[in-house]
Amino acid sequence: MTKTLLIKNATVVVTMNDTREEIKNGAVFIRNNIIEQVGNTADLPQAADEIIDATNHVVLPGLINTHHHMYQSLTRAIPAAQDGELFNWLTNLYPIWAGLTPEMIKVSTLTAMAELILSGCTTSSDHLYIYPNKTRLDDSLEAAQQIGMRFHGARGAMSVGQSKGGLPPDRVVEDEQDILRDTQRLIETYHDHSRHAMQRIVVAPCSPFSVSRDLMREAASMARSYKVSLHTHLAENVNDIAYSREKFNMTPAEYAEDCGWVGHDVWHAHCVQLDDHGIDLFARTGTGVAHCPCSNMRLASGIAPIRKMIDAGVPVGLGVDGSASNDGAHMLGEVRQAMLLQRVGFGPDAMTARQALEIATLGGARVLNRDDIGALKPGMSADVAMFRLDQIGFAGALHDPVAALVFCTPANVSYSVINGRVVVRDGQFTTIDLGSVIERHNALAFELANAS
Ligand SMILES: [Zn+2]
Repeated sequence: MTKTLLIKNATVVVTMNDTREEIKNGAVFIRNNIIEQVGNTADLPQAADEIIDATNHVVLPGLINTHHHMYQSLTRAIPAAQDGELFNWLTNLYPIWAGLTPEMIKVSTLTAMAELILSGCTTSSDHLYIYPNKTRLDDSLEAAQQIGMRFHGARGAMSVGQSKGGLPPDRVVEDEQDILRDTQRLIETYHDHSRHAMQRIVVAPCSPFSVSRDLMREAASMARSYKVSLHTHLAENVNDIAYSREKFNMTPAEYAEDCGWVGHDVWHAHCVQLDDHGIDLFARTGTGVAHCPCSNMRLASGIAPIRKMIDAGVPVGLGVDGSASNDGAHMLGEVRQAMLLQRVGFGPDAMTARQALEIATLGGARVLNRDDIGALKPGMSADVAMFRLDQIGFAGALHDPVAALVFCTPANVSYSVINGRVVVRDGQFTTIDLGSVIERHNALAFELANAS
């Protein structure tokens, strides 16, 4: 039995199709989980099983978040970690994270996903790299299914503790054979290769300063044998560059290439300090970058040369990063910061509102190695975000409603459709009771902080 959904009368539908068409008085017709037609309301079918009236709305392809650590929602604004750079910040947080439990992973993932979905995001990756107290990536996957979000679960890992010259304390690192075994189990149990997949697994050792060269290489060969993607942190700040120079006598980009970590199936978070050789290498090989402007500002890591990367042909997506280094994980807010930060670094024409939206949609899809999300056109997965224009934040900005979404105060969605299912209706979740999730999350956050 098929189910149809019609979104009609939109002020504008932003398609992100090949000509970047924006359709006034637009409509989207969805059958089951796939977009069947996009066009003027008058030209589309008038009947459907469910009809959403999008009068006074901008309709966007669901935004795509390419980097996050959702468990960190439990440790936002921790006093001891408010004002440090990356390595100092991590050192203050590792002992707290050592107390994470399976319930904490699940509830924090639900919380982080709820915040993302309300901010226009419909697909997210999550990089979970710390597994104390019998926590598993399965806990995150369960949360994604419950809330109904399209999800790329990245099996992170740390194996080089302080006693071996790494940054994390020894008690939070894992044995490398255990990491590979568990990663293989997750791929075989959960990874869905098919088009419109709701659930994929990613192989994702945490960073060059927390795993060995052997693990980087073995992870790459495992990912390729199963045709799944690879993800890690790279070239985040100057200390990260210094570590790479001292430990490997290479730049981070050279190290990535040496370990087999370049290609269309690889994306690296941050790359704030990626040099010209690295940009050229990433462009030639189709290696992706997850740009995380708020986190980069929060930790004073610098301004990633995104304009330069895009001009060179590097695939760039957007990431809110973990909630402990971007305490407000708002996807549309991140689009705004991406635009503003490029201007701070490289001038007022370094990025337009529409270019920033393109990074968060088409860019994210490319970085996650998908051709079925990031645009509203026939044959794509039915992932749609809708924003009301008649709210205070947009008053006076309706000359250009699409740019208004990015220039004005970041708004929450009134509707979110993910894989054809209405997950948010009139600003309310249809899949979870948000109030009780927040209440439990807050109790667990205090429990975690007090235990350390
Ligand atoms: Zn990160």
